Amino acid sequence: MTDDLDAVVELLDSANHVAVMTGAGVSKASGIPTFRDGPDAWWGQVNPLKLLTQASFDRDPGAVWGWHLHKRRLSLSKGPNAAHEVLAALERRPYASFTLVTQNIDGLHARAGSSGVLELHGSVHRARCERCGHLYELDDLGQDDEALPRCPACGEVLRPDVVWFGDDLDARVLSSSQRAFAEADLALVIGTSAQVYPAASLPTLTLRGGGQLVEINPEDTPLSRFADVRVTDAAWADGLLDSLEN
Ligand SMILES: [Zn+2]
Repeated sequence: MTDDLDAVVELLDSANHVAVMTGAGVSKASGIPTFRDGPDAWWGQVNPLKLLTQASFDRDPGAVWGWHLHKRRLSLSKGPNAAHEVLAALERRPYASFTLVTQNIDGLHARAGSSGVLELHGSVHRARCERCGHLYELDDLGQDDEALPRCPACGEVLRPDVVWFGDDLDARVLSSSQRAFAEADLALVIGTSAQVYPAASLPTLTLRGGGQLVEINPEDTPLSRFADVRVTDAAWADGLLDSLEN
């Protein structure tokens, strides 16, 4: 195992199928706090275990929508950083396949130019109708913060398209992610503590298929000992952007 950005570049140059998973650490440099970061934390103001559940939404949909709209405004007030940009740049390389899976709900990968991002935990920018299954971009609903958003098709109160505690992941998003990691010859896991399942199990699919694993994270995680290359430098994305441009 090496801690070396050059080694990552070499692996990226020889890979055919690349699968990437990102977590909260990737958005931290944009000023979006992770929930482990103390009093200003992403989840610091409320107990997410209590608020982010279907039961809580059934009881007080306005409060639950309020939290999501707050997070949405926060993410819209921030911009993508070098990590988002380098992943958008990698996608433009002529790989046989390149799949970006994220646990983040802030939409910053798409704003950096990544397309087809698999959002395992949903997005604060979307709402969905539980009655008819429609998905909506909040932008398209002309959402004001006063009233609960309703489904234009059937009139049902919409819920945020975010995976709450106790929810199942979207089966199609999960199976697409599993397929991408299973067929990848190179997996990159970036800015995630690799402790939330099933997201944390995706890289093991790559390893089981004989692929290699790069972990980019300042701290040790349960995945670290399986990584072929580890990068702990916080400035990794700038370094990688430089090597891609040269
Ligand atoms: Zn509906």
